[in-house]
Amino acid sequence: MNDRLPILFFALVMAAIPFIPGMPPFWIVLLDNIGLAALVAMGLVLLTGVGGLTSFGQAAFVGFGAYTTAVLSATYGVSPWLTLPLSLIVSGVFAVLLGLITVRLSGHYLPLGTLAWGLGLFYLFSKLEFLGRNDGISAIPPLSIGGYRMLDPASIYFAIWVAVVLSALLTVNLLDSRTGRAIRALRRGHIAAEAFGVHTPRAKLLVFIHAAVLAGLSGWLYAHLQRAVNPTPFGAQAGIEYLFIAVVGGAGYVWGGVLGAAIVVILKEVLQSYLPLILHGSGQLETIVFGIMLVALLQLAPAGVWPWLTSLLPLRTNGKAPDTSLLLPARIRAAGASEVLLQVDKARKQFGGVIAVNNVSFDVQTREIVALIGPNGAGKSTTFNLITGVLTATAGSISVLGRKVDNAPPQEIVKLGISRTFQHVKLVPDMTVLENVAIGAHLRGQSGPIASMLRLDRADEARLLAEAARQIERVGLADQMHQLAGSLSLGQQRIVEIARALCVDPMLLLLDEPAAGLRHMEKQRLAALLRQLRDGGMSVLLVEHDMGFVMDLADRVVVLDFGTKIAEGTPATIKSNPEVIKAYLGVAA
Ligand code: ADP
Ligand code: MG
Repeated sequence: MNDRLPILFFALVMAAIPFIPGMPPFWIVLLDNIGLAALVAMGLVLLTGVGGLTSFGQAAFVGFGAYTTAVLSATYGVSPWLTLPLSLIVSGVFAVLLGLITVRLSGHYLPLGTLAWGLGLFYLFSKLEFLGRNDGISAIPPLSIGGYRMLDPASIYFAIWVAVVLSALLTVNLLDSRTGRAIRALRRGHIAAEAFGVHTPRAKLLVFIHAAVLAGLSGWLYAHLQRAVNPTPFGAQAGIEYLFIAVVGGAGYVWGGVLGAAIVVILKEVLQSYLPLILHGSGQLETIVFGIMLVALLQLAPAGVWPWLTSLLPLRTNGKAPDTSLLLPARIRAAGASEVLLQVDKARKQFGGVIAVNNVSFDVQTREIVALIGPNGAGKSTTFNLITGVLTATAGSISVLGRKVDNAPPQEIVKLGISRTFQHVKLVPDMTVLENVAIGAHLRGQSGPIASMLRLDRADEARLLAEAARQIERVGLADQMHQLAGSLSLGQQRIVEIARALCVDPMLLLLDEPAAGLRHMEKQRLAALLRQLRDGGMSVLLVEHDMGFVMDLADRVVVLDFGTKIAEGTPATIKSNPEVIKAYLGVAA
């Protein structure tokens, strides 16, 4: 595969470096340190850059990996190769424990939480007797393969960089998959991801574990490089530095982690060795200069150096069109006579003193387009949120095909075949249209993270992308398939949301102001698409302010005003209803 070619090239270059004649041994030491930092930063890329979870505590996980192998191999004489899986497991298990507490925190509390356990664990490392307190553990055996003992930095170099390249490959694979899309959707908030069945706490925990295991791997290698461990490199300062590395390199990019590690490690080294010469030995100044240079670098390349560098290269779009002949199994639908698909029964939602939805009842039949109209603030979007489980009703109930679904979370509602778009578009702007739409098919794929990392998900993935491509063609955006969603006009982004909702293979489509921002021709095309969907057996409930569009399209109209239903009927009767004209249409006209 041609996007793996640069990685192969990189691996070959790294493999050749130690054989360059006259290569100073000190450079190899630097490269070892870069590799170790790159592993941790790569995990942070996934956690912070991609998943939006800022962690200051990654150094603690390096500590878990390092101390696990130190205790087992130095104190108990266990072979380092046996301690490798144990180091990773210990880091992973602590990630689960700390993650379960931490991923529930939001806003500023999450980074503060990671800082807190970063500090706490540092003190734990330095106080526990069996970890050697502040002195740590020494006499850790070197790694060895047969008779080849990795006693010096040049020999463990290969182990470190094999680990970096393999980890990068697995991480890139993970990001480019069903699970990866779910992780990438986290940064845009949980509502959109959950609307398509993503279990967001689980996805967050997964990236936590992934990042911790990579840090643990770094720690394991570190312990066998230094052959001694003490608490210092696993403290909060190191944790902050790892975050720095990820941000400088480009926190959204796996290779940004490697590049950031190279920049920071080399910069620190250069400053430490040359600054005292220039400034005649006034110590500690390098920290200040280092800080200033990093801030300057971030001014130059705010998203990190990696994306800045790749933007200078001639762009190659990996716009391979999916094979749309691949099919996903379709939902089984009741054919024949129309029945009540959705029943909203005296639904009520109160926000403090505001009654956003006031005992509203209406239904949607199969093969029917129902419009929900009313002035701004009438409670239309809130009604959508009640139906889709984003909000729980204060009172009343909602049934789908006769089954009550009160208090069901969004992940369960979407399984019933109800999918939606959002009034305020919720796409991931730096993902392509194709990838965004494929999130809609999340529940129709099976592959998990391990399968994705090992590329065993390709058949499943091809079917998901084929479905996404088909829906994109259906809504008329085939030409934009490989563009970044954020580069489209707002009107087009709304249409992308419709394609994403269609990927669910829904029975009922909820569209919140789908025609806003569309031009006349685009509106006509949208209306034709919705009619075609209805005639194909789907139901549509839409909120829309363009009365020409609504009255032409809807089979039935429900009118809300101040949270209360004031009318319901065919477009013709609604148009001439005096109360509706007074409350809404008069204003619209
Ligand atoms: P519409 O979509 O019809 O314009 P909304 O459903 O968005 O109206 O809002 C209905 C009312 O509920 C408004 O007065 C709005 O301010 C209020 N509201 C909506 N969401 C919330 C919320 N999360 N917290 C408090 N008030 C809200
Ligand atoms: Mg609204």
